[in-house]
Amino acid sequence: MAYLVKGGRNDWEAVIGLEVHAQIVSDAKLFSGAPTAFGAEPNTQVSLVDAAMPGMLPVVNRVCIEQAVRTGLGLNAKINLHSVFERKNYFYPDLPFGYQISQYQHPIVGEGVVTLDLPDGGVREIGIERLHMEQDAGKSLHDQDPKRTYVDLNRAGVALMEIVSKPDLRSPDEVGAYLRKLRSILRYLGTCDGNMEQGSLRCDVNVSVRPAGSDELRTRTEIKNVNSVRFAMQAVEFEAGRQVGVYDDGGEVDQETRLFDPSNGETRSMRSKEEAHDYRYFPDPDLLPVELTEEEVDRIRAGLPELPDAKKRRFIDEYGISAEDAGVLVAERETAVFFEEVAGGRDPKLAANWVIHELFAVLNKEGKGIAEAPVSPEDLGKLVGLIADGTISGRIAKDVFEIMIDDGGDPAAIVEEKGLVQITDTGAIEAEVDKVIAGNPGQVREYRDGNQKVVGWFVGQVMKATGGKANPKMVNDLLRQKLG
Ligand code: MN
Repeated sequence: MAYLVKGGRNDWEAVIGLEVHAQIVSDAKLFSGAPTAFGAEPNTQVSLVDAAMPGMLPVVNRVCIEQAVRTGLGLNAKINLHSVFERKNYFYPDLPFGYQISQYQHPIVGEGVVTLDLPDGGVREIGIERLHMEQDAGKSLHDQDPKRTYVDLNRAGVALMEIVSKPDLRSPDEVGAYLRKLRSILRYLGTCDGNMEQGSLRCDVNVSVRPAGSDELRTRTEIKNVNSVRFAMQAVEFEAGRQVGVYDDGGEVDQETRLFDPSNGETRSMRSKEEAHDYRYFPDPDLLPVELTEEEVDRIRAGLPELPDAKKRRFIDEYGISAEDAGVLVAERETAVFFEEVAGGRDPKLAANWVIHELFAVLNKEGKGIAEAPVSPEDLGKLVGLIADGTISGRIAKDVFEIMIDDGGDPAAIVEEKGLVQITDTGAIEAEVDKVIAGNPGQVREYRDGNQKVVGWFVGQVMKATGGKANPKMVNDLLRQKLG
C-alpha cells in the first residue's frame, strides 16, 4: 500500500531525495594534517591551512580519497577515475577561505544503488546520484557571550562525503529505512562512524508532492541539516502535508530552504530562491585533479568486508533463519559477529531467538549496545547448547540467563549448582503425573467431559511440583495418555 500524504482533499504522494553529509573516518583533515577527534577544546585542532593563512596550500589526504572510493564501491556505484576539486564561493564567518573546497562537475563517485528491506519482506532499490568529497566548515558559537559570536575552527577542513540520492523515496518510513541502511553500510565499511548526535552524519531533505500516480516533478523545498533519523521522518511528514495544504488552497509551493524545529515537529522558511546563493564554482587552481587507476580501485575493492546485504543472504542460506531475523542480526556488524559466535556449531534458529528476543530485551532495558552485553557470546552459546541437548528446558534457561546477567558465570556450572537439570526420567515424571491426577478428581471429570483446556492446568501442576524441571513435552504426552 503506497504512502499517501495525510490531510489532502485528493490523494497526494511525496517525492523525496536526500543529501547526506557523512564525516570520513580519518585521523587528519582533507587538506591538512590537523587532527579530527571529537570534543577537543575549541581551536586546538587547526592548522595554518585550515585557518586560510596567506600562502598556505592544501595537500589532499590520500586516506580520505580511499575512504570515498571504498564507500562508492559499497554503494555499488561507478568510481570516476578522474575527479576535480572546485571552489564553492560563499561568505560566512566560520569559513576562513571564503569558499568551500568541494567537487561539482566531476565528483569521485557516480551512480549507485542502496537496497531497502521493507517490513513486508519486500525490497526497494533507491538510486544514488553521486558522492562527492568536500571540507566541513567551522562552527559559530552564539551562546558564549551576549554581544559577540565566537568561531571554533576545529571542524574546518574536516573531510566529508556528500551522498546524494535520486528522488526515489516515497514516504517517511522509506526515509528512515534509507538512512538506517546507509549508516549500516558506512559503519561496515569503516568510512564514517554514523554518529548523528556528534554530527558525523547529517542530512538535507528535499521534498515535493504530486497527485498520486502522476510522474510530474513539482517545486521542491529543502530542509537543511537534520541530525536524526526520527527528525528526518517527522520533517518529511510535516513538510509534505504543508505542501498539500498549499495546493489544496489554490496556492503554489515556493522553492526555498527550510529548517526543521524538533520542539514542535514543524518546518519553517529560512531563505527563498531569490536569496539563494550563486556559488560561482570553478576548479581550485591550488589542487590537481584526483587521478585513480583501475588497479588502485581493484585493490580497494579486494579489501571490502562482507556488507549487510551479502551477510543477510548468507545467514538465510547457511543458518536457515528467516529473512526478518537475518535483517535484524546484520544491521550492526557487531551484532552479526556476536550471533555467529553464539550459533557456531549449534541450533542457529534457537541462537537467533535468544540473541534477538532475550538478549536484545536486556540491552534495550539497560540502554546498552551489543558491545556492552552483560553476557559473552561464548556463555550465551553454551546456554543455547544446554537447551538444544535437552539438559534444561527453555523455561529454566530463562532463569539461568537471569542469573548469568546478574552474577555472571558459566551456564553449565549454574545449572549444576542450582540443581536445574531437566527431569527426563519417565518414571519420575509419571509418578508426579499420577499424584496430580489422583488428587484432582474434579478436574479429571471436567477433562473427560470434553474440556481439553484443563490439560494445561494439569501441566502447570506437574511443572510446579517438579520446580519447573520436568521436560514439558513428556509431561504433556503422559497426561494426555493417562487422562484419555
Ligand atoms: Mn555539501
